[in-house]
Amino acid sequence: MMTTAPSNIVGFDKFSVEDVRQDFPCLDRIVNSNPLVYFDNAATKQKPRAVLDAMQMFYENHCANVHRSAHTLSNEATAMLEAAREKVRDFINADKQSEIIFTRGTTESINLVANSFGQGFLKPGDEIIISVMEHHSNFVPWQMLRDRMGLNLKMATIAPDGNLDLDHYESLFTEKTRLVALAHVSNSLGTVNDAKKLVQIAHQNGAKILLDGCQAVAHLPVDVKDLECDFYVFSAHKMFGPTGVGVLYGKEDLLDQMPPWQGGGEMIDQVTLEKTTYADLPHKFEAGTPPIAEIIGLGAAVEYLSQFDRVALHEYETYLRDMLIERLSNHPEMAIYGTANNKVSIISFNMGDIHSSDFASIVDKEGIAVRAGHHCNQPLMQHFNIPGMVRASLCFYNTEAEIDRFGQSLETVARLFS
Ligand code: PMP
Repeated sequence: MMTTAPSNIVGFDKFSVEDVRQDFPCLDRIVNSNPLVYFDNAATKQKPRAVLDAMQMFYENHCANVHRSAHTLSNEATAMLEAAREKVRDFINADKQSEIIFTRGTTESINLVANSFGQGFLKPGDEIIISVMEHHSNFVPWQMLRDRMGLNLKMATIAPDGNLDLDHYESLFTEKTRLVALAHVSNSLGTVNDAKKLVQIAHQNGAKILLDGCQAVAHLPVDVKDLECDFYVFSAHKMFGPTGVGVLYGKEDLLDQMPPWQGGGEMIDQVTLEKTTYADLPHKFEAGTPPIAEIIGLGAAVEYLSQFDRVALHEYETYLRDMLIERLSNHPEMAIYGTANNKVSIISFNMGDIHSSDFASIVDKEGIAVRAGHHCNQPLMQHFNIPGMVRASLCFYNTEAEIDRFGQSLETVARLFS
């Protein structure tokens, strides 16, 4: 097994793959009598021991509810949670901690904006722009809002290489366009959208923009100030943190004007029989007991990722991506979806008319985990006129040797179906 990234990669000496793998206990699993090859990183990343330890440490030593009691454990828990907020703020270069809202994940972050921005800023006849490459999380909430409020939902299309069609996107704006919601990185195609340009076009047309960064944060440095986006959303579990927690970043002046969307404890200032006044940001949007251990785990994930040279990680993942694409391309009946130059290590394909689930089941028998199906992208499948795809998604803890094993499995699948 390769121990360090090859020397032709920029920053190859910045990290050792073998050392990194030691951080992830689950990578040692034997699956169906073979060492696990985990190529389902776009679905969720494996968790480093630092994240597992941080969560365990909270439960073993500091377990209490936050923002409430005056006792020591509660103060410690609150300080740990708020320290995680500061780590996230720094990680995406937001101005203020008040701009970082903890949610249950990307899905809840988008539903929060749909409900709250929808109620506060939209009226019947207003328009929202999304795209054909959006995950259902960035699709269904807008459709629901459209139906509830009588809005118009417009869909930007993509070019054959999987890039967003910028001319088409730009042509969709009218004076009624209020909001745009687009993926920073596509979860099926891996396309990295030119987020700054998307933001500029939205703002030139007087619309606010939400970027779905769920597939971006683990692979690219994200700077919300540089992007100038109004909202940025992501899930902890896609960036080595636990499930059950995510982030909504929003510009403070916007969040301030938006009504709360869930009522309950933690989000109030005063409650009387007549009326309730609300807490300041960020708590106004954090009703109920938060996932405390998970937020602390997210803070640990941010610290874990931040120790690396992100450029070196990206270069290495790109190297593995190209290696895997080369193996796929050796097969004559291979259709690869998403060939944009700027693309993370997410590779979706179909091998002849082999059903994606059959492909995934066969390679699973050899210990290789890939995803099959529509990847919560049914409109994108309709665009390509296919029921599904196989998706291999890579991470910097994957190795050349694993790509070799995947290449051998391709031969197995080809033989079985020949
Ligand atoms: N957007 C994108 C681009 C995603 O890849 C995903 C998860 N696959 C989501 C949104 C939804 O994330 P979650 O299920 O963590 O809320």
